[in-house]
Amino acid sequence: MTKTLCPYCGVGCGLEVIASHGSWKVRGDRDHPSSLGQVCVKGATILESLDRDRLLYPMFRDRLDQPFRQVDWEEALGRMVERIQTVRANQGVDALCLYGSGQFATEDYYVAQKLMKGCLGTNNFDANSRLCMSSAVAGYIQSFGADGPPCSYEDLELTDCAFLIGTNTAECHPIVFNRLHKHRRQNPALKLIVVDPRATPTAQVADLHLAIQPGTDVDLLHGIAHLLLRWDQVDEAFIRAHTTGFAAFAGVVQHYSPEVVAERCGIAVDALETCARLWGASQRVLSLWSMGVNQSTEGTLKCRAIINLHLLTGQVGRPGAGPFSLTGQPNAMGGREAGGLAHLLPGYRSVKEPTHRAAVETFWGLPAGRISPYPGRSVWEMILGLEAREVGFLWIAATNPAVSLPDLERTKRALLQSPFTVYQDCYIPIETTDYAHLLLPATQWSEKTGVMTNSERRITLCSSFQPPPGEARDDWAIFAEVGRRLGFREQFRFTSSAEVFAEFVQLTAGRPCDMTGLSHERLAEKGALQWPYPAGDQPVEPRASARLYTDLRFHTPDGRARFAALHARGLAEPPDAAYPYILTTGRLYGHWHTQTRTGRIEKIRKMHPKPFLEIHPRDAQTLGLQQQDWVEVRSRRGMARFEVLITKAIAPGVAFIPMHWGALWANQAEANALTHAEADPDSLEPELKACAVQLVPIQQNL
Ligand code: SF4
Repeated sequence: MTKTLCPYCGVGCGLEVIASHGSWKVRGDRDHPSSLGQVCVKGATILESLDRDRLLYPMFRDRLDQPFRQVDWEEALGRMVERIQTVRANQGVDALCLYGSGQFATEDYYVAQKLMKGCLGTNNFDANSRLCMSSAVAGYIQSFGADGPPCSYEDLELTDCAFLIGTNTAECHPIVFNRLHKHRRQNPALKLIVVDPRATPTAQVADLHLAIQPGTDVDLLHGIAHLLLRWDQVDEAFIRAHTTGFAAFAGVVQHYSPEVVAERCGIAVDALETCARLWGASQRVLSLWSMGVNQSTEGTLKCRAIINLHLLTGQVGRPGAGPFSLTGQPNAMGGREAGGLAHLLPGYRSVKEPTHRAAVETFWGLPAGRISPYPGRSVWEMILGLEAREVGFLWIAATNPAVSLPDLERTKRALLQSPFTVYQDCYIPIETTDYAHLLLPATQWSEKTGVMTNSERRITLCSSFQPPPGEARDDWAIFAEVGRRLGFREQFRFTSSAEVFAEFVQLTAGRPCDMTGLSHERLAEKGALQWPYPAGDQPVEPRASARLYTDLRFHTPDGRARFAALHARGLAEPPDAAYPYILTTGRLYGHWHTQTRTGRIEKIRKMHPKPFLEIHPRDAQTLGLQQQDWVEVRSRRGMARFEVLITKAIAPGVAFIPMHWGALWANQAEANALTHAEADPDSLEPELKACAVQLVPIQQNL
């Protein structure tokens, strides 16, 4: 029996894999503290996707209009290294880009960014977490002085008011929701508030559902603060002793009267007051959020506006309370720890901070000044770089940008202009395969060993339990081999992922995410553990790492948390006369992202057989649409076609489509053909959740 982790979402449920008649069975791990034996349909069916459509050998073609031919690793690696050296010499290191994934193990992240940021001297290593939770990273850093969700899943069972905003937890983080819902059934006094433009399965069981207009989250959050201040339901002692910026914050929220906020959000004043009363009356408020908050041009501000409410009421650092962002991917958190975004270095360090760069350069045995002081290209900046012919070498691993990036037609045109794209993944075909010159077969979950960190900072060792298919190699091993061939033998002497992890944790010493007490061996022996977990004769007990800031000392220079005093900015592309509807996008219970795995699992395909567009009956009547009619959705960037689902679960003026269907799985149903690439100025996370569209009834899609 092998203990491991579900490789889909950031909940991070423990799994047990058992040999059974020459095959494998999977079940929930009752000993795993995050999930207590529960799994959702994705975890339960994971084994079915492992041997379907695997990429088994490296494949190459000179031009994108040619077919691929099988090559050996020697030729593949030789071509890559030659290309990197040529681009480095002729265009400089800023022309080299690597785009990775929250599906990486921490060891993959660590070796990839060591290669790019340390050895090659470019910070152009970004990950698809940029599209997912980089706003939460920026929000925590700005408010608390460091990244890191301060809460634990056990807080789900200790809170008396759960405030869920921009998260359809029941479908997207089902086991987190199950824990909360079970606790609520046993404790009817627990209040559940859900803020979402849709009446999602999460909202349908709430005590209070605030169906706000997309893009009005900050108005709502400031409106709650306004009322708490008006009613004097704030923790003055906490504010005085542990925060800065309160006066400026109070000055901002005085402009958010209930009448103004209710009007902007499209809700009743009563509902807003009920929400504020529930927050103010609760001893332990736990807020949860995910993409609905993060994927926004004001995503960082939304996160900070949530944290503001916790600072205003002293709801942080205590059991059952705190601002808790839920990560999308299984190891987005590991990426944050290991330097997996273009502005980060390992151990929650920043490329902009001279002492951070110097510490990492010294540790890696590289000359001073090797690491660039400037953040590298975010993934969208890589696309812009392709358009401008500034990128000469693009390496994509474990992610599917030909479906997941915004303004997809523009993205695809840019990918077609890439002089040399390496695509490293497990399956073929994937939509992005069409844009690659060189395909590298990677191992995946079940075939590789590495660690992943879930939303509650819990690190689980995911051990391999079967050999790789064909000639597939581990991602970290591919990065290391390229590094050695580029001449960095000293930096990539690793012979196992355990050695990679052992090196990485040394860079966390004394940092907020200190995990120097962890190793593959210790995780195998003790099971999944939360950081901080420093080394020492007496390692911190697991319970002491259950939540951050229990001493109410934050990672800012003065130890105080910072209020954000900023006004709401709203949507980057609000509806207007030409494009009168707001389109919002989201996820369904069974599918995972662009269906690379779940599209290959029959049970899940049957569960969600086709894409659709949700529209309110009032709008359907205006447009003359009946149930199952077809509609063409047009934005300023592209179009897609959907069967209509008329439902009161969506607010009038808003339409919803799921984001899972790329060109491989449906005809003209790509959500990101419609979205725009405007991003949050701090986190650079695009506003994938909202854009303005026209809805045009059409005959059935052929
Ligand atoms: Fe996997 Fe997430 Fe489902 Fe848990 S909730 S089984 S981690 S997909």
